[in-house]
Amino acid sequence: MGSMSAAPIDRKVRGVLSPSRAGDFLACPLLFRYRTIDRLPEGSSPDAVRGTLVHQVLEEIFDLPAAERTPAAAHRLLEPAWRQLQLVSRQAREVAAGLDEPVWLDSARTALDKWFVLEDPTRLEPAEREVFVEATLDSGLSLRGIVDRLDERPDGALRVVDYKTGSAVSEGFEFKALFQLRIYALILWRSRGVVPRMLQLVYLGATSEIVRYEPDEADLLATERKVDALWEAIELARETGEFLPSRGKQCDWCAFKAHCPAWGGELLPMPAPPSPWARLKRQVRQRWRRIRRRLRGRR
Ligand code: SF4
Repeated sequence: MGSMSAAPIDRKVRGVLSPSRAGDFLACPLLFRYRTIDRLPEGSSPDAVRGTLVHQVLEEIFDLPAAERTPAAAHRLLEPAWRQLQLVSRQAREVAAGLDEPVWLDSARTALDKWFVLEDPTRLEPAEREVFVEATLDSGLSLRGIVDRLDERPDGALRVVDYKTGSAVSEGFEFKALFQLRIYALILWRSRGVVPRMLQLVYLGATSEIVRYEPDEADLLATERKVDALWEAIELARETGEFLPSRGKQCDWCAFKAHCPAWGGELLPMPAPPSPWARLKRQVRQRWRRIRRRLRGRR
């Protein structure tokens, strides 16, 4: 257990960042800008929607009694979860319209089968699933995000589990994924006073494997410094309007190439800041989403 107590919750918040958006800025500041500030539409991809679907089944399977958490049960959950997803998600409906559905559902089954090779859910009893976590750092930066699965041992040791359904593990991506998991660990440390014992990435894409990492306080303090520095860099970029493109593997599926100078595209002008009314509406929407997630996390 970590020695630091939970952070006071009335600290003045000067900014909000999620592990995913931190990862975006780290990978490419222009990608961050287009996604987070301009909020350009990105369309939907079958891979991304399959990821959402597989995550949903991996959450629901733990509603079953332990002995019934079998590959066949996961397969049975898949199609109802897919129908439900299409009811609530516009992206899912868009993707469904152009799919060879049987083949695509088979690829989701394959991802689920890979999970059963890596983990045995009959021996797991997650403490929380799809849980919203947040903490405010001493700097006033509020970190928040959703953890796929939190396992807790009787002695209180926490394991943070993140499912990755995308393509193969590559060094750069693993670094980014572990950085994001360290941020989750930092949030849990600051909000619950416990340094998670284990961070676990479960890859269910072309490569299936588990990557484990044991963080310690020094690690998480370094992560905190890095996140604070990242936030300073984001604020500076906001002030100057300079979000530079950074080419890398992430360009392969970036939706913004047409507006990216690194790929011969024309840079879009920075959008005008949102009106106070638009900001308020967004805050209310975000707060409502957080409440819903908390309620789901309590099931
Ligand atoms: S195409 Fe690559 S460099 Fe350009 S914005 Fe996207 S991720 Fe960044």
